[in-house]
Amino acid sequence: RIYGPERRNSQGLDLSQASVRKAMAASLKSFRDSPAIAAGAIVSGKPDANGGDLVRVPFDTETVLGACKEASEASINAAMEAATRFQPKWDALGGAERADHLRAMADILEEHASRLIVLMAREAGKTLADGVAEVREAVDFCRYYAAQAELDFAGPVRLPGPTGETNHLSLHGRGVFCCISPWNFPLAIFTGQIAAALAAGNTVVAKPAEQTPLIAFEAVRLFQRAGLPVDALHLLPGRGETVGAALTSDLRVSGVCFTGGTTTARLINRTLAGRDGPIIPFIAETGGLNGMFVDTTALREQVIDDMIVSAFGSAGQRCSALRLAFIPKSTANGLIEGLIGAMNELKLGNPAEADTDVGPVIDTDSRELLRAHLERMKTEAKLLHQVDAGKIGEDGYGFGPALVELSSLDQISEENFGPILHIVRYDPDNVAKVGKALAAKGYGLTLGVHSRLESFHAKVIAACPVGNTYVNRSMTGAVVGVQPFGGEGLSGTGPKAGGPHYLHRFASERVVTVNI
Ligand code: GLU
Repeated sequence: RIYGPERRNSQGLDLSQASVRKAMAASLKSFRDSPAIAAGAIVSGKPDANGGDLVRVPFDTETVLGACKEASEASINAAMEAATRFQPKWDALGGAERADHLRAMADILEEHASRLIVLMAREAGKTLADGVAEVREAVDFCRYYAAQAELDFAGPVRLPGPTGETNHLSLHGRGVFCCISPWNFPLAIFTGQIAAALAAGNTVVAKPAEQTPLIAFEAVRLFQRAGLPVDALHLLPGRGETVGAALTSDLRVSGVCFTGGTTTARLINRTLAGRDGPIIPFIAETGGLNGMFVDTTALREQVIDDMIVSAFGSAGQRCSALRLAFIPKSTANGLIEGLIGAMNELKLGNPAEADTDVGPVIDTDSRELLRAHLERMKTEAKLLHQVDAGKIGEDGYGFGPALVELSSLDQISEENFGPILHIVRYDPDNVAKVGKALAAKGYGLTLGVHSRLESFHAKVIAACPVGNTYVNRSMTGAVVGVQPFGGEGLSGTGPKAGGPHYLHRFASERVVTVNI
């Protein structure tokens, strides 16, 4: 049974087309020629953007791309008041009208795709191919949630019941939703959270990651140009400790949607638990210690390709990325040799150049954490190979993709957010036991399986319950409406972005019973 309406996702841009590359080059030139971007809070459509922290290009840290002024207490308060006041009106518009706004947001994102893609390359160090996928995802989120809003938020539905009584069920926004988004998907997740909250009838205060405020600033300006009412969405950039903490403890916030680290999710959870006032939902999508299990029937070249893409694509900075590959003892040497060969073929470099496979990591803190982990692995486990970061390591936050061999699963317990793949030699006959040991780490986001035996797939899936399992393919890049994305346990509270049940998590359900 196929669940849900037939629909198409956006087509995106084809980087092999000369016209597309020309548009990218023009956008790149316009960034180079223009003054630094001044960003800051946007409250009721008005920006407060003068000065603030400099935003540097992670590939070339000498270059300043812009600056962002942290949202002040006054801005936060004004945004909360305006969002609270406007929410009942936004909710009363109904799903169909809100859907029109979301579709207009999608159209304007598509229209400005080249600039957004180049901005992501500059601010977040994302490759152009990743940027293309990210704009598509943002567009798809808007259109998918628009369709869901029309379906489920169009008005009350009558429920079957005994004669003499009518029962109507309707879905409503909960109030003001606080959306806190990560730097690794500075446009897609930023937009996706906002689009979902808006679709369900909430107004939004959005706090983007402090590393990527410029893309968020530009996106909100575009949404306003697309006609989104200015009081429906307010941008409040800043640090988690200041702006994030102020928002999550504000009693006018009626729900929190967060994507980021597990530690921060715990912190927010504690803040929400300690609040007086209404009990509110927490939608969290966090990290993963994602494994891939390979058996001896798997196709070697395909395994290697899929591991490279899953572990090193986006410089390993996806929560869905492959971290731990379990490879059969009997074929391990050949696989390792193949992996090292493929790692050496990766082109590290400027993410704004079309043939770059791996760009920089996001910032110094991130690179230092990865370096420290690798140092520990050198003594406690074994470093098999690391690609030289070369020029991106000198001018920017480059970190060469690395391959580590563990002798025991005890050597790792946490996600390391970057291009480090750990491998473990194992006996596929013991897959149930090894799978359970991985599941016992507590994460539950993505899982990969490579085997031609369905019985093997079933064993892995039973041992490791996760949000998204991928069999005989790469394990990143969940597609909106096709692979609803989100995890369990330490990986999040479970709602799946881009799925048919997501909007319900942002909504209140009300029933009116009339005895006639
Ligand atoms: N949805 C993304 C994927 O499937 C990952 C999202 C994230 O890293 O937060 O790769």
